[in-house]
Amino acid sequence: MENVLYLVIPCYNEEEVLPETSTRLQKKMTDLIGRKKIDQKSRIIFVNDGSKDKTWKLIEELHQKDKIFGGINLSRNRGHQNALLAGLMTVKEHADMVISMDADLQDDIKAIDEMVDKYLDGTDIVYGVRSSRQKDTFFKKATAEGFYKMMNAMGANTVFNHADYRLMSRRALEGLAQYGEVNLFLRGVVPMIGYNTDVVYYERGERFAGESKYPVGKMLTLAVEGVTSLSTKPIRMITGLGFFIFIVSIGMLIYSLVRHFIGATIVGWTTLMVSVWAIGGLILLSLGVVGEYIGKIYLETKARPRFIIEQFLNDEKE
Ligand code: UDP
Ligand code: MG
Repeated sequence: MENVLYLVIPCYNEEEVLPETSTRLQKKMTDLIGRKKIDQKSRIIFVNDGSKDKTWKLIEELHQKDKIFGGINLSRNRGHQNALLAGLMTVKEHADMVISMDADLQDDIKAIDEMVDKYLDGTDIVYGVRSSRQKDTFFKKATAEGFYKMMNAMGANTVFNHADYRLMSRRALEGLAQYGEVNLFLRGVVPMIGYNTDVVYYERGERFAGESKYPVGKMLTLAVEGVTSLSTKPIRMITGLGFFIFIVSIGMLIYSLVRHFIGATIVGWTTLMVSVWAIGGLILLSLGVVGEYIGKIYLETKARPRFIIEQFLNDEKE
């Protein structure tokens, strides 16, 4: 068996980090090839997610200079998850194992060695897990960890403190390819594939250039997308809430009747106002949640393509 490794790196407006990232990764790959851990035909593939800057031009230049670099150009910006998926699905026929990572190398590339070793020992999926977040700001740390906790509470089981830095074998990728959903949330779906899995711990560093393309707003959207595409727990929670309110209303009924017969019926304007607003708000919120799911169904029935590839640059010769 050959051990061809492909790195897949989604890039959105990353002209500032690409030169440094490509140099570091090239060194890492040459080292691994030299030590016969991976095959000569291993490649570094950058996925350009519709960048507005010179990212794609830089990728083309890298590819011309050294065939270890390849590129996938998406027809437009589709977001990190789709760009990653596009990369994985495109390279899976060429590689025996694929590692996905971010362009800013916040995820320590030293972990690649360990991931490859685990693959060679027969592991199909190796998750990169952040051992600490010392380099992240307090705000980023709090929002990011809150993100994982909320996801799990809502029924979307993900690996804690694991983003999309992971190794997948070819057969794991073939498993992933069978999940045909349009709203694919990788971190939730990958653990469903099964096979032998393992984790590798690493320290998360700082972004060395450029700025984060994942502000809080996008992270919240990702969390909602993740939850609604993985589980129906929120709907079940609404049912539970409805049941609870029904029980309360029986209490209220008895209370009102008692008040009526005592003859003190005028008081209670405040209670009435409060409950009208509270129940109204709850109903709207519940409708919204149910609507989210209906929206998902609508999008799924359309079965639109998750990405469109404009160009794939890859030199497969030795
Ligand atoms: N990214 C992408 N498309 C987008 C937004 C981000 O491909 O629409 C890529 C980005 O280039 C980077 C990765 O997703 O390689 C993670 O983004 P970033 O480092 O900005 O997120 P953070 O580390 O701050 O959470
Ligand atoms: Mg980053």
